[in-house]
Amino acid sequence: MAKLVKCKTCEYQVARTAKSCVHCYTKNPGLTSTDHLINIICISTLLIAIMLLYKISFNEQLIQIADVEAAGFEKQYQRHNLLQNAENGWVGQWKNERIELYQFADTTAVDLEFFSKRAAPDNLFGWNDACIHKNIILLSEGHHACEKLKQL
Ligand SMILES: [Zn+2]
Repeated sequence: MAKLVKCKTCEYQVARTAKSCVHCYTKNPGLTSTDHLINIICISTLLIAIMLLYKISFNEQLIQIADVEAAGFEKQYQRHNLLQNAENGWVGQWKNERIELYQFADTTAVDLEFFSKRAAPDNLFGWNDACIHKNIILLSEGHHACEKLKQL
């Protein structure tokens, strides 16, 4: 049995969850403005919690060049002219392939198209593969480094 409360308009006894008052037909007669406020606060809190969780999982997806190093990438020299707003760039060897790595601030900052063009057939740089994984772009003369990167 639903709890009875007074209709907010005519004070007739209605169920708290009633859709309309049987006496004056006011909609949601059992809900006061305080109830509405509580509902709004609950929904807002839930939305903020979802946004925070999304943000956390989004950040967890980011990797650093150090993570690639830990997986066997051998640094040779750092790129000083960083392409396409990259935060960091290194040239080196990975899986017996000459590669170039670029690290970006987040996954949305990465422009694979730009790098794909650099690995286009018969390009001057000798690249045969360009791939994106999370916030990292990799250019390689072979295809093993990209496979390995996707496992990080
Ligand atoms: Zn009423």
